Amino acid sequence: MSDLQINDAFKSYGNVDVLRNINLDIESGEFVVLVGPSGCGKSTLLRMISGLESITGGEMIIDGQVVNDIDAAKRGIAMVFQSYALFPHMTVAENMGFSLKLAKAPKTEIKEKVQRAAAILQLEKLLDRKPSQLSGGQKQRVAIGRAIVRNPKVFLFDEPLSNLDAELRIEMRAELIQLHKKLGTTMIYVTHDQVEAMTLADKMVVLEGGNIQQVGKPLELYDDPSNMFVAGFVGTPRMNFLPAEVIDVSNKTTTLRFHNEKNAPEIVLPLSAGTLAVGAKVSIGIRPDHLHFSAERTGDLAVPVTVAFVEELGDLTYVYVDTDTGTRLSLQKKDGRHGDGLTGFAVADTTSMFVFDADGLRVRA
Ligand code: ADP
Repeated sequence: MSDLQINDAFKSYGNVDVLRNINLDIESGEFVVLVGPSGCGKSTLLRMISGLESITGGEMIIDGQVVNDIDAAKRGIAMVFQSYALFPHMTVAENMGFSLKLAKAPKTEIKEKVQRAAAILQLEKLLDRKPSQLSGGQKQRVAIGRAIVRNPKVFLFDEPLSNLDAELRIEMRAELIQLHKKLGTTMIYVTHDQVEAMTLADKMVVLEGGNIQQVGKPLELYDDPSNMFVAGFVGTPRMNFLPAEVIDVSNKTTTLRFHNEKNAPEIVLPLSAGTLAVGAKVSIGIRPDHLHFSAERTGDLAVPVTVAFVEELGDLTYVYVDTDTGTRLSLQKKDGRHGDGLTGFAVADTTSMFVFDADGLRVRA
C-alpha cells in the first residue's frame, strides 16, 4: 500500500497547457476516481502518475519519494487499460504471468502468483483458454489479473469498463469494489461516467478544462458542490439552473428575480447583506428530486410550466417540463398527475436551492 502526493503539477504540450495547478493527496489504500468530461485531462494525469507521460512542472511523490524522473517500470505501479491488450497467442495463465517471466521469476513462483490472482478473480477454470475464447468481461478480468500478479504499490485504471455492455459494467463495478476490499491496495481510476465514479470512489476528483474543480467523497460533492460545474456534473438527471438577478438585499435576506421567467414570483433567500450586491447576476440550482410538479402555486418558488414528456423508470418517474420561455426543467414525480401537455407549476423550497455567482462559484449563506 502506498500514498501519493501531487504538488503544483502541470502539463503542457508545446504552448498548450492541458493540466494546471494540480494538487492532490491520495492516502494509502484509497480508491480515488478521476472523473470529468472528455478532454479534461484525466488520462494525462493518470499517465503522469504512471510515468508514461512526463511532468512539465511540479512534483509527483510516491511513499515520500519524488518520482518525477523515475521510469514507469520502476514506480511499482500497474496499469489496466480500456483495451485489454492481451497477447492472442498466449493462454490466460501465460498472459497473466508474462511480466514475471520477463523478470525471470522462478516457474513455481509464477504459477503460485497466477493461481492466487486467478482465485481472486474467479478465473481458475479459464487459465488454459486463449483470449479469443473469452467474453469481454473475462478478458478485462485477465487484464486485471496480469496487474495483480505484479503485486503493485498502486493500481491505475484507465476507463477499464468502457468496452463492456451496460449490464456487465455494473457487474464489473461490484467486482472492482470487492477486489479493492480484498487487496487493500491504493487504486486510481479514470472515467468520464459520473455514476461509475460515485459508486466506486472513496475520493472523487472532478476535473474540467485541465483544472481540479473539487475533491471529496461522492456524497459531499453531491450535497455540497463548490461550483456550478460540479453541481451540474454530479447527479442524474442533472441539476436544473435558472438565471436570476438580485433586486433587493436586507439584513438577513436577499431577493431575486428570475431573468426569463416573468411569470415566476420573486424569491427571498436567507442570504445576509454583504453576500451579494443588488444587480448581481446569479444562477439558482435545484436538483430534480427537490423540484415538484403541482397544479397549485405553492412553495417558495413556483414557475409556470407545461409537461413536455415523462420518463417512467419503474421505481422513479421523471417529468420534463418547459417554462413559458422554453427552459427545460427536469423534476422527479412524487404524486399527482403528470401527463404530456398538462400545465401547472414547478415548485421548490428555498432550503433546497443552490446559488452560484456570475463566475459559477457557490454562494453560501
Ligand atoms: P481525457 O482523458 O480527460 O479525455 P486527455 O488527458 O486524454 O483527456 O487529454 C487532455 C487534453 O490534452 C486534450 O485536449 C487532448 O487533446 C490533449 N492532449 C493529449 N495528449 C496530447 C498530445 N500527445 N499532444 C498534444 N495534446 C494532447
